[in-house]
Amino acid sequence: MIWDKAMECMDREELQGLQRKRLQKIVKRVYHNVPFYRRKMQNIGIEPEDIHGLEDLEKLPFTTKADIRDNYPFGLLAVPRQNIVRFHASGGKPGKATVVGYTGQDMEIWGECMARTLAMAGMDREDILQMAYGYGVFAGETGIYHGAEKLGAAVIPMPTGNVKRLVTMMEDMGVTAIASTPSYLLHIAQTMEECGKVGKSRLKTAVCGAEPWTESMRRQIEGQLHIRAHDMYEMSEIMGPGVACDCECHQGLHVYADHFLPEIINPDTLRPVAAGSTGELVLTTITKEGLPLLRYRTRDMTAITYETCACGRTLPRIRRFMGRCDDMLIIRGVSVFPSQIESVLLEIGGTTPHYRIIVDRVNHLDTLEVQVEIGDGFFSDEIKGLESLAGEIGRVLQQEIGLLAKVKLLEPRSIVRSVEKAVRVIDNRNLT
Ligand code: ZN
Repeated sequence: MIWDKAMECMDREELQGLQRKRLQKIVKRVYHNVPFYRRKMQNIGIEPEDIHGLEDLEKLPFTTKADIRDNYPFGLLAVPRQNIVRFHASGGKPGKATVVGYTGQDMEIWGECMARTLAMAGMDREDILQMAYGYGVFAGETGIYHGAEKLGAAVIPMPTGNVKRLVTMMEDMGVTAIASTPSYLLHIAQTMEECGKVGKSRLKTAVCGAEPWTESMRRQIEGQLHIRAHDMYEMSEIMGPGVACDCECHQGLHVYADHFLPEIINPDTLRPVAAGSTGELVLTTITKEGLPLLRYRTRDMTAITYETCACGRTLPRIRRFMGRCDDMLIIRGVSVFPSQIESVLLEIGGTTPHYRIIVDRVNHLDTLEVQVEIGDGFFSDEIKGLESLAGEIGRVLQQEIGLLAKVKLLEPRSIVRSVEKAVRVIDNRNLT
């Protein structure tokens, strides 16, 4: 179902016209209401009147996470503090958290964006949605509640940690949809298999976010649970979950470009990349009242396409994330994203998606070790079989990432499961 056909399938030129009007308005607002932006714009010698169209976006200054922290807690608000109805604070030491404020209208738009997301994942008012995100991990889950309310779906908040209880409730209440991190959903899937509950639930769809995951992992979840799984993009500084989501075609995530204007830049030169090339995603919030951000550098690496999707939506699509600029590892001079290693592990089979990447430096030389749990079927296998599996993984890794890695196979369930973002990379090199 398409929640807001007028906006999601709008003619491309019409959408650009709307974006231009909204961009001009937001630039004026921040110039007059946020001293930080006025100073930044004055420093580079531009005024709101210099922004005639989308091609002028490049003239505007960037915003970074450090800028939000430096203006802690209310420095970037574009409305009087009294107009804010919700604050979300995330990460950082006390006094240096990232605080984002929302007006009533911002909350309304957030709900709309989440309703679009849930509808894109195949939900409607018939559905019962189980919320399996840990409280505190995911400040933005209230946005999901608001979206489900608009859709008319029922939500069951679940305390995380007790997976068996979650699975029992799922069966008893006829839960049809779930929201969770992808790694926690795999943990739920494993528990369901162990209890023989996989074919017995009414679960049909999942929205997953809050940590990067690969297309192979998405297919694995779909295969294991016989459901469809959707990738939901969230960026707490922009608007928690509800910035973008992939539709049933799974050919990239549709960005709600009537609210968030996307650009892709080269993170080194800060210039736009050629059409279709990979770079850092930069977003400008063009409808936000409380904390509008100009050209926010997300640190997430992706590429964008403006082609109309087979689902009918004209909203631009960003490719599944390679990872964050910050997550990219440079090992012996080679750039590697953990997601590339995960893809190899999942393609080969025999292993589970539970793995760790350990980077170290021995005698001034970087070393890479990949530890991965093997599947239950493999564990009883002979030593010989295990050795050849490890050898195969090593060979394919070398082909794919160009690095020799030590591969260590672990017993099933030996890596601690986390409700929060899974810790996949351990870098012992002391590079700072
Ligand atoms: Zn689509």
